[in-house]
Amino acid sequence: MSYIYDLWDDFISLLFPRLCYGCGNHLLRNESLICTECYVVIPRTGYHTEAENPVARLFWGRCLIEKAAAFSFYNKGSRIRTLIHNLKYKGIQEIGYELGRIYGLSLKSSGFTSDIDLILPVPLHQSKKRIRGYNQSELISKGIAEVTGLPVDVLSLSRKAISETQTRRSRYERWTNVEGIFSVSSPEVLKGKHILLVDDVITTGSTIESCANELLKIDEVKVSVVALAYAVI
Ligand SMILES: [Zn+2]
Repeated sequence: MSYIYDLWDDFISLLFPRLCYGCGNHLLRNESLICTECYVVIPRTGYHTEAENPVARLFWGRCLIEKAAAFSFYNKGSRIRTLIHNLKYKGIQEIGYELGRIYGLSLKSSGFTSDIDLILPVPLHQSKKRIRGYNQSELISKGIAEVTGLPVDVLSLSRKAISETQTRRSRYERWTNVEGIFSVSSPEVLKGKHILLVDDVITTGSTIESCANELLKIDEVKVSVVALAYAVI
């Protein structure tokens, strides 16, 4: 019976090939979304095990971040870049959950999340969320939450105004562009908590800085940060 099932499965995959969202190669029967090779070659930073890493250093002198890390390097032409592109612009939401789960396992086993109380995804502006239909950072957060058991709060932090595309701006311009664009709706819920901010890609850190500065106005709040990828500029 399983032989017939396998034949049928092969036949279906000939008609509708299942391809890896990282490299475009055919997926094996036991693989889904991302092939084993992609999992192996994605360049991981290992920063969650180093307190003084380049992502943490981004925030030095800018805002008080307890711990900061990123899953992978966001190199040009890298598979993580293709995966994140598929997650953000091609509607493949499962990639967010999957990479969140994978990273969540490392964060949990290294003890990175042991003193965290809750996860807060970096919010998208409502109009952007309406167009895309989802917030990719929320999906990554839910993947991390699934393996760490931490709650995800998608209500307390929101984005006030849409920022223009930040890619061609200097760090100063980007900083002024994101300053004061986040607001906290119910600070009493977050009081005294250690919050893990989750984003998709960290580049200059200015978006995180703006979020953190808003959160750090609340009494006894601590903020840590993780992202799926770190783009070295
Ligand atoms: Zn692949």
